Amino acid sequence: MPRKRCEILCVGTELLLGDILNTNARFLAQEVSQLGLDLYYQTVVGDNERRMEEAVRLALSRSDFLLITGGLGPTSDDITKDVVARVFDRPMVMHEPSLKALKAFYETVRRPMPKNNERQALAPEGATVLENPQGTAPGYIVEDASGHAAILMPGPPRELQAMFRTRVAPYLRQFSKGMIFSRMVRVIGLGESRMAEMLEDLIVEGVNPTLAPYAREGEAFVRVTARGDSQEEALSLTEPVVEEILKRLGRHVYGVDVESLEAALAILLNEAGLRLAIGEAGTAGLAASRFMALPAAKGLAAPSISAVSLEEIKNLLDPEGSALPDTPEAACARMAQTLCRVLDVPAGLALTVNEKRQYAYAVCLKGRASSLGGAAPSQRDMAYARTQAVQNAFDMLRHRLLDMEEARV
Ligand code: AMP
Ligand code: MG
Repeated sequence: MPRKRCEILCVGTELLLGDILNTNARFLAQEVSQLGLDLYYQTVVGDNERRMEEAVRLALSRSDFLLITGGLGPTSDDITKDVVARVFDRPMVMHEPSLKALKAFYETVRRPMPKNNERQALAPEGATVLENPQGTAPGYIVEDASGHAAILMPGPPRELQAMFRTRVAPYLRQFSKGMIFSRMVRVIGLGESRMAEMLEDLIVEGVNPTLAPYAREGEAFVRVTARGDSQEEALSLTEPVVEEILKRLGRHVYGVDVESLEAALAILLNEAGLRLAIGEAGTAGLAASRFMALPAAKGLAAPSISAVSLEEIKNLLDPEGSALPDTPEAACARMAQTLCRVLDVPAGLALTVNEKRQYAYAVCLKGRASSLGGAAPSQRDMAYARTQAVQNAFDMLRHRLLDMEEARV
C-alpha cells in the first residue's frame, strides 16, 4: 500500500493579503512529516465560496487527507464547513453536545450567546466532531467511502494546535507507516555552499536518512531526517550520519539539536562555571538580549551594558582610566578586559558596530583578550551587520572556551 498523502489548505482572506503570517501551515507541515505521512501541496484560499470549493475538490483528487484550518467561526465569512459539506454531499445537522458546550461556554463567561453562534454547533452529517476546549468552534473529520477525508480545524493557532495534538494526530497515526525523526546540525563559520560541498556525497547519496542543507543569517544548518518503524529506529538511523558530519565539519558544528548559538555558548560557560558580562555599542543591545533571553542566563549573565559608543561604556566603568585605543579591535579588547576587572567576572565580551556597518569584537577570558574585526557587505543593512558582529563575537568566545576545555584534558 502506498504511503498516505496529506495536503494543507489554509482559509482566510487575511492570509492571502499578507496581514497575518501563515503559522498554521508551518505547524501542520512539521507535525505531518513527524508522523511519517507524505505532504506534497499547501494552498491558501480566501473566504470565497467558489474558489474554496475548487481548492477542496482539487486537493481531495490528489491527496488522502486534507487538513483545513480557518473559516469555522460564527460570522458570515466563515464558510469552510458549508463548502466541505457540499463537496461531500452531506446535509448539516445540529450536533447536540456541541450546542451544549457552546451554551456552557457563554454561561462561564457570563455573556448571552448571540443567535448566529448556534451555527457553530451544526455538523456535516456523519462527521466525527472534534471538541475544542480552547474555544467555541469544534473541528470535524469528514470521511468518504473511498477513504479520503477532510479534517477541519479552527484558525486560531492555540486552538488548532491543541486540537491537532489531542485528536487529529492520533487519527492520522493509524495511517502512517513508520515515524520520522530529524536532527538539526547547526554550523557556524562556513557558508551554506562550503558546507554543502564538504557534505556533497552524503547529500547526494542520502536516502534514509536524507540530508537537507540550508542557511540563515550568519549560520548554516543541515537537517538529517530518517524514517523508521519506531521513533527509536529512526533516531538510530540518523546517528552514524550525524557522527560523520561532526567528523568532517569539526568545530564548525556548534551543536546538534540546540536552539541557538547562545544556547550552545551557555552550555560551555556552565560547564566551565564562568559568568559572562557583555559591553556593546551600536548593536541595539542585541548580544545581551539574545544571551539574557536564555533560561540558563540566570546563573550565567553578569550585568551588561548597551550604549551608542564604547567611550560611554568606558566612562561609566573606568572614568579615571586612559582613553580607549584608536582601532576598534584594540578598543574592544581593552573594553572586554575592563568589563572583567570592574565587574569581577571571568569572561567578558565587547563589541561595536559603526554606521558604515564595520564591526569589531573581543573576548576576555581569565585575563587574556583576543579581538577581531570585519564588515558587512555593502548591500546589507544595519540589522545584518549587527547580527554578524554578535554571531562572530559569540563564536570567538565559543572557540576560546573549547580551547580552554581542550587544554584541561
Ligand atoms: P478563522 O477561524 O478563519 O475565523 O480565524 C480566526 C483567527 O485565527 C484569524 O483571525 C487569525 O488571527 C488566526 N488564523 C487563521 N488562520 C491562520 C493561519 N493559517 N495561521 C495563523 N493564524 C491563523
Ligand atoms: Mg477567517
